[in-house]
Amino acid sequence: MPELPEVESLAADLRERAVGRVVERADVAEFSVLKTYDPPLTALAGTTITGTARYGKFLDLTAGPLHLITHLARAGWLRWRDDLPQAPPRPGKGPLAFRLRFTDGAGFDLTEAGTRKRLAVYLVSDPFAVPGIAALGPDPLAPDFTPDVLAGLLADRRTQIKGVLRDQRIIAGIGNAYSDEILHAARMSPFRLASSLSADEVTGLHEVIITTLWSAVGRSAGLTAADLKSEKKAGLAVHGRAGQACPVCGDVIREVSFADSALQYCPTCQTGGKPLADRRLSRLLK
Ligand SMILES: [Zn+2]
Repeated sequence: MPELPEVESLAADLRERAVGRVVERADVAEFSVLKTYDPPLTALAGTTITGTARYGKFLDLTAGPLHLITHLARAGWLRWRDDLPQAPPRPGKGPLAFRLRFTDGAGFDLTEAGTRKRLAVYLVSDPFAVPGIAALGPDPLAPDFTPDVLAGLLADRRTQIKGVLRDQRIIAGIGNAYSDEILHAARMSPFRLASSLSADEVTGLHEVIITTLWSAVGRSAGLTAADLKSEKKAGLAVHGRAGQACPVCGDVIREVSFADSALQYCPTCQTGGKPLADRRLSRLLK
């Protein structure tokens, strides 16, 4: 899933390519992805792209007075194309969900694998009219995201730090992959209660959040959308690497599975050498 660093890079890549171009048309190939109906998509025709922005994991393309906002969800992606077909896409079963075509024939496709489309597109005049954006917590790359701000977000929160880092309403932009990476770099168990962190641990976690995200942004800077996915995978130390060796200590990276996701961690680095209980695994072993 694209998280803050990838969406930041997509916004930069799109800024280079799309700003100054004039929209010819926007089409949905999968109707469920369009979450707004007023203004209609036809209002985009003839508008000039003036900028791009990121809100958490939301990508914003500014077109005149309008904002075309995309959330790529778990499996969505953006693919720039220099030469899009003239005819609008036919709604169908393929990965194509949405297409924006400029008057010069270039444009991009939003695609998502799988039959169920979770990708979301909004056309609004104010980005904060998108409920998911209005509800976002502070952005960790904003200059005013200080250790004190983080301390305030964690205080009194008697829930596991892994869930807190992923919760977009608490901190914007961090998902399953970078929360695994941040906790590994902070040498902290994903199951620690957020409210139990000492002041020093909060300061350390704050530093690691910033360095992890900025270095991921740096690695993906200048890459096209097509290359971002593999770069993200290559840059991760523990996420998605269960069974492999921890790059810091060499221990075997473990996994805890949940109904619809899994977290990865290193026992030596993060949990005093003790594997965390994996409910799915223990159920299978019974
Ligand atoms: Zn380790």
